[in-house]
Amino acid sequence: MSVRDNLLRIKSEVPQGVELVAVSKFHPAEVIREAYDAGQRMFGESRVQELVAKATILPHDIRWHFIGHLQTNKVRQLIGKTALIESVDSIRLLNLIDSESQKAGVVTKVLMQVHVAREETKFGFYPEELLDFFERREFENLKATHICGVMGMASNTDDLDRVREDFRSIATIFHSIAGNGDLGLRGFDILSMGMSGDWEIAVEEGADLIRIGTAIFGERQ
Ligand SMILES: *Cc1c(COP(=O)(O)O)cnc(C)c1O
Repeated sequence: MSVRDNLLRIKSEVPQGVELVAVSKFHPAEVIREAYDAGQRMFGESRVQELVAKATILPHDIRWHFIGHLQTNKVRQLIGKTALIESVDSIRLLNLIDSESQKAGVVTKVLMQVHVAREETKFGFYPEELLDFFERREFENLKATHICGVMGMASNTDDLDRVREDFRSIATIFHSIAGNGDLGLRGFDILSMGMSGDWEIAVEEGADLIRIGTAIFGERQ
């Protein structure tokens, strides 16, 4: 199956209202171009240098999503290059994104990454931490950053009940923030969850943004 075939098949399976990020990390610009020519415009990268290099040579109407752990010393390079940074995993990072965005004269859209999976290695806020952040209203101090929602990953396991439970936990946190009118949040409406192996379950649990790499581009090198 070609990249084009994979992409078109997945797009035909994804329900209306759910947007697809094609995760192109570790794949060369040529295959991104193939997906682009098949109509895809939203791509996901997990390393700053790689995203910036690809953005330079590929069409400028591509909307790049940053989905990896973002080191604070790389923030400046990334600002102005993304449609969405999906993986804000600390307050320090959030504040740095805000100050660099201000300096650059842009508004950066971000998602807060929430950690529910069992793996120790995954980054993100614990649910209580994230709820606490919103309750303290720290987001009101942001000047050039727009928090648009939540991103999360399920445990990496064959236990599909566990995967569903994880997505449900992520969705619950998202809805408890989005549904809290007292917070006065505007445009907090993106729930990003689901990858190649589990996106159908994520969509059933309410995802409206899914991030698919392997099922489109094949195994990464
Ligand atoms: C790599 C990655 C994906 C895509 O994973 P696949 O299993 O290849 O679809 C999605 N989300 C994040 C955060 C990733 O790092």
